[in-house]
Amino acid sequence: MHTNTLKSLSDALAKGDISSRELTQLFLDRIKQHDSGINSFITLTEELALAQAKTADDARAAGNAGPLTGIPIAHKDIFCTQGIKTSCASKMLDNFIAPYNATVVEKLNSSGTVTLGKTNMDEFAMGSSNETSFYGSVKNPWNTEYVPGGSSGGSAAAVAARLTPAATGTDTGGSIRQPASLCGITGLKPTYGRISRWGMIAFASSLDQAGPMTQTAEDAALLLNSMAGFDPKDSTSTDKTVPDFTADLGNSHEGLRIGLPKQYFDSGLNADVENVVQDAIKQYEKMGARIIEIELPNTHLSIPAYYVVAPAEASSNLSRFDGVRFGYRCDDPADLEDLYKRSRGEGFGEEVKRRIMIGTYALSAGYYDAYYLKAQKVRRLIKNEFDRAFADVDVIMGPTSPNAGFKLGEKASDPLSMYLSDIYTISVNMAGLPGISIPAGISSGLPVGLQIIGNYFDEAKLLNVAHRFQQETDWHARMPAAFQ
Ligand code: GLN
Repeated sequence: MHTNTLKSLSDALAKGDISSRELTQLFLDRIKQHDSGINSFITLTEELALAQAKTADDARAAGNAGPLTGIPIAHKDIFCTQGIKTSCASKMLDNFIAPYNATVVEKLNSSGTVTLGKTNMDEFAMGSSNETSFYGSVKNPWNTEYVPGGSSGGSAAAVAARLTPAATGTDTGGSIRQPASLCGITGLKPTYGRISRWGMIAFASSLDQAGPMTQTAEDAALLLNSMAGFDPKDSTSTDKTVPDFTADLGNSHEGLRIGLPKQYFDSGLNADVENVVQDAIKQYEKMGARIIEIELPNTHLSIPAYYVVAPAEASSNLSRFDGVRFGYRCDDPADLEDLYKRSRGEGFGEEVKRRIMIGTYALSAGYYDAYYLKAQKVRRLIKNEFDRAFADVDVIMGPTSPNAGFKLGEKASDPLSMYLSDIYTISVNMAGLPGISIPAGISSGLPVGLQIIGNYFDEAKLLNVAHRFQQETDWHARMPAAFQ
């Protein structure tokens, strides 16, 4: 039962083959049995889960069930969950119990999902390996010597190990797609503004976007149906109709124009990963798609520009953690200044402090124009070249990550090489476009993802393109042997 997709569990619940309580207990038991090996959860919410499962079973018995009623899921610990610890994997918020639900959580709750627990992540979502968590690294279920990717590494590892049918994640520069790639699951970052950011602890507000992490594109569509939509509480959420994202699944790919950016296949790309991506492209050609070579010449500027914009916004967002209002406070402060300094100094980890310092510097008087404004201009150039590309193609394809994965500790002391893991994902956030990573092959025992980028608000097409591939291949159904 645990290997089933969300869609088939939904069908099983509808037919009465299993109850939500049974299903929930099954996943809770799996987490207790297997999670010590991968550390994908920070908090298990057993009591809440069983109560929500009972409510779901009652709703179904009364004839009030939708496709997500009674489906167990996990939430990245960046989403506020009322009455439940919401830590963002930081010592700063280790004692924080959220007083309200994030809109994403609220929407999924009202669709009837069951919360199994909160998943591990990089501290404040800063990282690509899930090694910056206050609660320890997450391990890749395919090989526990390897990282699961980050920052939504706990969500990705939990879905890959089939400890939950699905999880939520957030993606500021690749944090849904890159861990999805490294763990062999499907991860969708929707268009900026598609999903409310309210109650999602802010990292870089102009880039952050929530999304589903699942086995399949069909499952992602089912979750997106409930997560998406305008929210008056988030001024950047878009007032656009939310289509039924499952409606186009299965449409033909005859004539689909796929753009392949020359810059995504440069010398930094691992040869095995390149082969996997080329094989996937051939599969699409067989399905009737047409390949068009395109240029995204400013791709190499996305990382330097991101590492000005994201830390600048983070330094501002994280100023609220001052030892007074939320979270950690140092012992016996001598005076107010000492309280601020030591609470922040002791409460934040090293990577978070590095970002706060870079961001504060970039925003300081005299440097603002040279760094922040310049980076925003580069960002516009990146957006413009995507706009030009989408005049000729329907979707853009390439690798999600330059390699299949790396070992725990391998890049931990070398931030620059860590930052390069996001070379193919960051420009998508800079432009605000939707992107999805789907499993497309295996290299030395580790999964490899294919990234598909769509035009603004074209998630339905993106999901259909991903779904059709998953109908012809079985990479998405493979799972790590140790967790069968
Ligand atoms: N790895 C990138 C960073 O550390 C992206 C993280 C994210 O998307 N949250 O900033």
